[in-house]
Amino acid sequence: MSNTDFALSVEDLTVSFDGFKAIDKLTLYVDKNELRVIIGPNGAGKTTLLDLICGKTKASAGSIKFKNHEIIQVAEHKRVRLGIGRKFQTPSIYENLSVFQNLEVSFPSGRSVWGALAFTATEEIQARVKAVAEDIGLGDKLETEAGLLSHGQKQWLEIGMLLMQEPELLMLDEPIAGMSARERDLTAELLQRICQNRAVIVIEHDMDFVKKIAHKVTVMHQGKILAEGPMDQVQADPKVIDVYLGH
Ligand code: ADP
Ligand code: MG
Repeated sequence: MSNTDFALSVEDLTVSFDGFKAIDKLTLYVDKNELRVIIGPNGAGKTTLLDLICGKTKASAGSIKFKNHEIIQVAEHKRVRLGIGRKFQTPSIYENLSVFQNLEVSFPSGRSVWGALAFTATEEIQARVKAVAEDIGLGDKLETEAGLLSHGQKQWLEIGMLLMQEPELLMLDEPIAGMSARERDLTAELLQRICQNRAVIVIEHDMDFVKKIAHKVTVMHQGKILAEGPMDQVQADPKVIDVYLGH
């Protein structure tokens, strides 16, 4: 395929670590406004795939197009500016700043955290902070010190910090790990809200959660795609049951 309407087109993507192909000629297309979930056994290459898309890891071969532009040679920080946001498993919020300040410093001003703190927030930034805080369910916690938030709230704050950059592709690696049942439900709602104007890729193991949020599911195994489609179809696939769901 050449020119497409996809948010993300990954074609024949390969990365070798000392001859071991962690990602092996993988092809994947994600639509705008799509919430895609990637599942698969440990070591399947899920995290490595996100590392390649965000530019943390350099591909050995293949193509990664973001909104039709080849980005395989583009540096990680430039991919952020193009609109690719990635949440890692450990949150990286500023514990002694308020929720408001954490969001404010994430506004893409090109300044360092200290520079951003020193200047008075314009109305535009304030409005964005408030809108994002509502989106992540922390609208009434703007003045709360981030260190005092629950584990789940910290995860949402980090998602909010990414949303401040208005990414058109947002990637989350196991976002509900360690969350309570209630926090998982709220996270499902949050993800459904935020995929309405962007593509979202989520890696997750919790099948009830996957069922709730996924538009489509991609199953990875040994650096390749084993199956892809609606959750019901994937769950009934004997190959998937054999390598993943059966255990
Ligand atoms: P998953 O997220 O699906 O559990 P990973 O993407 O973390 O899997 O890992 C896929 C495989 O690639 C594993 O065998 C892992 O050990 C290997 N791997 C990942 N990153 C590196 C690296 N930087 N160097 C060497 N091997 C790696
Ligand atoms: Mg992983």
